[in-house]
Amino acid sequence: MDQIVLKNVTKKFPTKSGEPIIAVNNFNLNIKEGEIFSFLGPSGCGKTTTLRMVAGFEDLSEGEIYLGDKIVSSSKKNLYVPPEDRGLGMVFQAFAVWPHLNVFENVAFPLRVQKKSKTEINDAVNKALTHTNLKGLENVYPSDLSGGQQQRIALARAIVTNPKVMLLDEPLSNLDPKLREHMRFEIKELQQKFNFTIIFVTHDQSEAMAMSDRMLVMDMGNIVQIDTPANLYNNPVNKFVYGFLGQSNFVDVVLEDGKIYPVGGKGQPIPLAWSDELKGKTGVIASRPNEILINSNSEKGYATKIEKRIYLTSGIEYHVKLGEQTVRIRTSHENIYKIGDNVNIEFIRPSWYEMDSQDAEKER
Ligand code: ATP
Repeated sequence: MDQIVLKNVTKKFPTKSGEPIIAVNNFNLNIKEGEIFSFLGPSGCGKTTTLRMVAGFEDLSEGEIYLGDKIVSSSKKNLYVPPEDRGLGMVFQAFAVWPHLNVFENVAFPLRVQKKSKTEINDAVNKALTHTNLKGLENVYPSDLSGGQQQRIALARAIVTNPKVMLLDEPLSNLDPKLREHMRFEIKELQQKFNFTIIFVTHDQSEAMAMSDRMLVMDMGNIVQIDTPANLYNNPVNKFVYGFLGQSNFVDVVLEDGKIYPVGGKGQPIPLAWSDELKGKTGVIASRPNEILINSNSEKGYATKIEKRIYLTSGIEYHVKLGEQTVRIRTSHENIYKIGDNVNIEFIRPSWYEMDSQDAEKER
């Protein structure tokens, strides 16, 4: 069943110059019950605005939003169910815990607003504190707690009303990397226990990949691609998604006589299986640094030289030139070449994007 549905949702913000900013452009989205769904994209692409419309903090310029089978926002009907009546839990970037309230009262707050009985409040807060590992800290004030514990208070407060939908806007961005990784698991565990639907907003691709069942990649207010992390990573629809989802090399190429040459290096073609299909086109070859082979004792591939060698904890990065363009290659620590070594490189799983889409990207 769909838990969150956006139909033709657009949000425009007026500007002084008269031309409005289209923060969200005609979104159609169906998020299933129990799904962890991430909004991923660069700063300013419209992630938070979309989330705020789902939460009910922002009206819609056009379209409708449904939670379960209930319409909660409609531009045509001028209908807006207030945020507190949408059955949502929310955690935002800033910890947003109240410093003058102890842990218990911070978590109890939404229930006090709902005027629940003392017994109901005690039961629900105890349950939320148990699930977020905060039991025993009821009387402590947030300033005496670590960043991770403060973020758990925000999580506990979000789950205390037993919401069907959780909206998380960069909830881990104030935490150090180790704690961030740990909290990802905690959020996933909570989700599995309570089976709420999560929208998770982030600009961190690895966080989105680790957390999500499906992700939406956005750019400048537009939906670019929606899919599972694996499908997005393996089949990006364009260069933008390819580059956004991981380490990438982009080699500009020209095609002549059925052969692919790197721009600035016409002497030697790049041997690729699909050269024949691309007659007369110009474009870009995309590849991940760990999906390129280096050979020193085979003529297979493109002949070049090691220009740079960088030791990393995860392996070695080599830089080589294809024409005038630098390509980065990641190998294990065993695969040791020296600067100046003659090598041949082979793209294992390259993608091809036509120049047209690139040009369109530049023009925008
Ligand atoms: P970030 O990752 O930096 O939080 P975002 O993807 O969440 O960015 P939004 O905050 O949704 O992006 O902003 C989308 C666009 O809408 C931006 O161009 C932003 O400047 C504009 N915008 C957002 N809120 C308002 C507002 N209240 N008034 C005018 N313009 C706004």
